[in-house]
Amino acid sequence: MTLLPSARSELLDEVRALTRDQLTPLADRAPDGRVSPEVVAALAEHGILPRLFPTEHGGSADGPPSATELCVLREAMAAESPLVETTFAVQGLGSFPILQAGQPDQIARWIPAVARGEVVAGFALSEPDAGSDAAALTLAAESDGDGWRLTGTKTWISHAPDADVYTVFARTTPDAGARGVSAFVVPGDSDGLTGEPIDLIAPHALGMLTFDGVRVDPDQLLGERDAGFRVAMGTLDRFRPSVGAAAVGLAQRALDAALAHADERRAFGGPLRELQAVAHRLADAATQLDAARLLVYEAAATLDAGGRATRQAAMAKLFATEAAQRIVDDAVQLHGAAGLVAGGVVAELYREVRSLRIYEGASEVQRTIIARELYRDG
Ligand SMILES: Cc1cc2nc3c(=O)[nH]c(=O)nc-3n(C[C@H](O)[C@H](O)[C@H](O)COP(=O)(O)OP(=O)(O)OC[C@H]3O[C@@H](n4cnc5c(N)ncnc54)[C@H](O)[C@@H]3O)c2cc1C
Repeated sequence: MTLLPSARSELLDEVRALTRDQLTPLADRAPDGRVSPEVVAALAEHGILPRLFPTEHGGSADGPPSATELCVLREAMAAESPLVETTFAVQGLGSFPILQAGQPDQIARWIPAVARGEVVAGFALSEPDAGSDAAALTLAAESDGDGWRLTGTKTWISHAPDADVYTVFARTTPDAGARGVSAFVVPGDSDGLTGEPIDLIAPHALGMLTFDGVRVDPDQLLGERDAGFRVAMGTLDRFRPSVGAAAVGLAQRALDAALAHADERRAFGGPLRELQAVAHRLADAATQLDAARLLVYEAAATLDAGGRATRQAAMAKLFATEAAQRIVDDAVQLHGAAGLVAGGVVAELYREVRSLRIYEGASEVQRTIIARELYRDG
């Protein structure tokens, strides 16, 4: 059961099959921890990336990117290849600030190229001393003639150091918190910009970036000076339910594997599934998964209807990522030692699922957002 209207459910099946048959083999060949240009190109060639962008900017969408469609795509891809899914998601995350706040020339330069799979994008907000508290960021944008020079470090940046373009959030006004941050579009080959990959427990192209007086011109500013934090938060708000959707995709794969194993594996004179404790574990997992899916698609539908979805999106991300962690852990438990074999489906899911409760706002941060919204409404 998909809990989706039939058109969305057809898209989900179609993209899941495409990911399994065409994209996963490319992702399997990708160098560990680095961007795969082959996967990026194939995501464009098969018409997935263009769905993120309106037709006038080289995409295939009728209008602004649909939050529901983004969720369907991420759920489908995550169920087959988390690496394909994160590549797609980061292309969206890195380019959405340009689409959202860019000047026409910036949009024309970068967005059609992202849609064609020719440009790899990254979203550079986090710093060594500013993660959850992103408004504390210190990467300095110091005035230099009519432009600025960027100096400092970004870390945990997906697609770094391989991206062709980064949206970079830097401090234009010291001691002004969120009100002193500006957004810039910075080519990956800019003078003074270097980077290093970071190895995570699961393959994810990610690294740190060092800015040593990187020059940015006024035409690289995204939106207004000192209004860049809104650009960052607008992007994260748009993508938040879809992190939950990726969690749903991973959890669905884990539940499918657990059901198959409980059917095949025999113990105490019958299949595992006939033991009541096993059946209840599976029932709980399925219930949590459906609840997660409902929250995710409800938040996305609210966004698509132009509504305010801050509370719903935070609840969707919190519940779906926490539920996915439990469901994947249960799937490993049901497999016994076979669940721990490196390279096996549930062992891989166990490594992959962990980061979702941390990135784009850790679970604790989502709870803080939900409570703030409750107090505001109450
Ligand atoms: C796979 C992956 C991909 C990423 N990609 C990107 C990217 O592309 N671009 C980017 O800019 N960043 C990216 N990040 C960084 C990510 O957004 C940060 O890791 C995240 O915001 C948390 O920041 P931190 O790691 O510095 O943890 P901290 O801020 O140091 O927090 C550590 C822990 O403290 C607790 N905590 C923090 N704040 C609170 C609070 N208010 N209340 C209660 N508890 C709290 C939480 O348990 C949290 O996990 C990525 C991270 C990962 C793991």
